[in-house]
Amino acid sequence: MVFEKLKQSFSNLVDKLARIEFSERAFEKYEMDLILNLVESDVAYEVAEYIVSELKQRVVGKKVRVLEDKRNFLKNQLRSLLLEMFNKVGDIDFIKFVKEHKDRKPIVFLFLGPNGHGKTTTIAKIAYMFLKNNITTVIAASDTFRAGAIEQLEVHCKRLGIRLIKHKYGADPAAVAYDAIKHAKSKSIDTVLIDTAGRMQTDKDLMEEMKKIARVTSPDLKVFVGDALTGNDALEQARKFHEEVGIDCSILTKVDADTKGGVALSIVYATNKPIAYVGVGQNYKDLIKFDPIWFVNKILGEN
Ligand code: GDP
Repeated sequence: MVFEKLKQSFSNLVDKLARIEFSERAFEKYEMDLILNLVESDVAYEVAEYIVSELKQRVVGKKVRVLEDKRNFLKNQLRSLLLEMFNKVGDIDFIKFVKEHKDRKPIVFLFLGPNGHGKTTTIAKIAYMFLKNNITTVIAASDTFRAGAIEQLEVHCKRLGIRLIKHKYGADPAAVAYDAIKHAKSKSIDTVLIDTAGRMQTDKDLMEEMKKIARVTSPDLKVFVGDALTGNDALEQARKFHEEVGIDCSILTKVDADTKGGVALSIVYATNKPIAYVGVGQNYKDLIKFDPIWFVNKILGEN
């Protein structure tokens, strides 16, 4: 089941704590154990540390005696703590965003992230979602680096019946994106989705290229696409893109696969930006809005 490992980690955490006294000393004795328990499910160390210390503050000194009551009390505290983590960073719904900013048309989305994490597939899924909601779109093939990247987008665009703006491999990605925006303006198209490269000779080249595209296109939303299966790697990448280029939200892909789940918490904590959607398969319809309540219910059980 999705997030089974993270669910198990939180369940162990609750079990352990329910059996001890809610005192500072007892808590401290188990602190490291609790942190490592979460780290095993891809929760980054500093995030695990934050969760355990927040929980400690909410629990120490509280008078709850019966084991089952203690369990429920701990679960409820964890539930509100995790929901607060998500609520603090807000939420972005792309359809609402486009509809609310019609005056800024075309709305430009810049997609960032490492190769193979699902950027191209996600762009096609977003285009499909927009089409279903009567939002027109054009895609910019600004990954002019990876062999096959342009053809991959061409296949999607043909299937979806949308226009792809492309240059040759090796062309300036910012120029491709600029042309796509120009095209959207001239045809009164609602949105532009810019695909970008994920790997260059060095990370520095990649970040410079992303900064240049961002400068030239002034995107309305910069979206990080990260593969949930890669755990802490996705987190480090999100952090790097956020520090260098700045991101507005993330999309986590491959959540249908056997992901541990902790990376969802880590990315939100590290970037302070919401997860907008999650990818749950390889088809166009396999993109769902990320819902913190759905996520927390998955890992703590229904309330
Ligand atoms: P890119 O290099 O970042 O553009 O990645 P691609 O879009 O080419 O995706 C890499 C692989 O991941 C492809 O085989 C996709 O079909 C697959 N993929 C992308 N998103 C998902 C998802 O949400 N679930 C699953 N199971 N596979 C996905």
